[in-house]
Amino acid sequence: MAELPGIDRETLDVDVVIVGAGPAGLAAAYRLAELVKAHNDSNEKKLEISIAVLEKGKEIGSHGISGAVMDPRGIAELMPDWLERGCPIESPVTDDGFWYLFEKLKIAAPIMPPPLQNHGNYVISLGEFVRWMAPIVGEMGVDLFAEFAASRVLVEEGRVAGVRTGDKGIDKNGQVKANFEPGVDVRAKVTILAEGPRGTLTKQLAGTFDLYEGKNPQVYSVGVKELWQLPDDRFALGRVVHTLGWPLDGDTFGGGFIYGMKDRIVDIGLVVGLDYRNPTLDPHQEFQRYKTHPSIRPLLEGGTMISAGAKAIPEGGYYSMPRMHGEGFLITGDSAGYLNGARLKGIHLGIKSGSMAAETAFHALLNEDYSASQLGEYEALFEASWAREELWKQRNFHQAFEYGQLAGLINAGLGIVTGGRGYGVMNRLEGHAGHERMERIQRYFGADHPHPPETMKFDNTLTFDKVTDVYNGGVLHEENQPAHLLIADTEVCITRCTEEYGNPCFHFCPAQVYEPQLTADGRGKVPFLNFTNCFHCKTCDIMDPYQVITWVPPEAGGGPNYKKL
Ligand code: SF4
Repeated sequence: MAELPGIDRETLDVDVVIVGAGPAGLAAAYRLAELVKAHNDSNEKKLEISIAVLEKGKEIGSHGISGAVMDPRGIAELMPDWLERGCPIESPVTDDGFWYLFEKLKIAAPIMPPPLQNHGNYVISLGEFVRWMAPIVGEMGVDLFAEFAASRVLVEEGRVAGVRTGDKGIDKNGQVKANFEPGVDVRAKVTILAEGPRGTLTKQLAGTFDLYEGKNPQVYSVGVKELWQLPDDRFALGRVVHTLGWPLDGDTFGGGFIYGMKDRIVDIGLVVGLDYRNPTLDPHQEFQRYKTHPSIRPLLEGGTMISAGAKAIPEGGYYSMPRMHGEGFLITGDSAGYLNGARLKGIHLGIKSGSMAAETAFHALLNEDYSASQLGEYEALFEASWAREELWKQRNFHQAFEYGQLAGLINAGLGIVTGGRGYGVMNRLEGHAGHERMERIQRYFGADHPHPPETMKFDNTLTFDKVTDVYNGGVLHEENQPAHLLIADTEVCITRCTEEYGNPCFHFCPAQVYEPQLTADGRGKVPFLNFTNCFHCKTCDIMDPYQVITWVPPEAGGGPNYKKL
């Protein structure tokens, strides 16, 4: 996001600022407000604590997207009367299925693998869930600011002192427009980051404070999904199906999901590991292909696609969680890697992380101590929690998939009987950043082999191009603003990337943001950025083989406007 230098900015002083109004951020706000209220109800000396939540979306929930089958443990612990308070569940899970897909065939597993057993869980829409939670949090005295994108962390004398929100009203050339509004410095005693996977501010802090020292790098997947309105009840409400196999090859981590929602809506998607080898792999196209499988096509035939989106998922597990605290800050939810990749679940863990961060912040406020040693209580709470116990049991789940799907599945099975150790003789399997696994194009396809990616023809009935999915994600950005994808070195795109990898950004972006454009001197191709299409999925920031792409928040309010995703 563009930031003009030398501008007078307003300052907002709060006690705690929370960046991101997803489940982790809202849980942190709720729990902190609850602790303050309980304190004030039983103490003469009252606390006056101001809590602000910043959300980059146009409204709270508009950027909310997930599978989602929710384990209720997190919300039930945070808010025991969550169902009585009208939490918008679609349905309890009524039926579980697990299919292995070959191109023309499916094999349904006679018994469910334990991590995928969903009895007791709920099909939900994450967007609707946070839309329900936000007013509850607001009524507790928390200030919720939608359309406020935090663009950077304020670091002063080695400690985090709050965040700066992005300037609004800057044109594509970096000049102020008539509606210019400078960003605000939100200064806080404690800053809690809950900005989702591959968070911009988390990335800044990870660089400044070396938060991944001694850890495995985080690895991600991208989930591409659509909602379909069906003409009849052919897919039952509450039914949950997970698939492995086709169209992904044996080297690629991932699988599909199909969930039955209310009103004959089916939630269908494909998760693709962002540690794939094939440099021309296109997750959106693989998902479109997935829908043509003979066991899936009949589920959708005669239906209408009503919504679409994409989002990254942190898959690395326990050993890929960064140090989650420091001087003046805490990191929660997907930003800190609270996701159980084996169960495909993170909402309950995100809520738990927000709750533990709130308890830590509350004690810091009582002690008037915001040092790293005080805020380290958060890691101690985590280590003693059920969240840690759950993640520990899957601590080596993802790493073995680096050696292919079969190795990963054997390791996952071993993990079940060894309490999570799997192949890890000394407990821990090393992991590597996903982009490092991508192979050079000649090596992958062979020097004499043609390697144009196979381009699928979309029929606009069952299968759709990227732009149609962007439209159905309600994606909208102000056009006259600087692009929010920063490419540090476009010379790399023209020379090394074209030669070595065939410009993977033209393939991996599910929103067709990167389009090949011939340079003026005809030397090669650079990406033309259709940034207004962007789903904010972060795939490009993660999977670019040279790591020269940085996703930064666009002008606040821009992005998808997800409905029921
Ligand atoms: Fe995702 Fe990057 Fe494409 Fe935006 S530009 S949709 S963040 S891959």
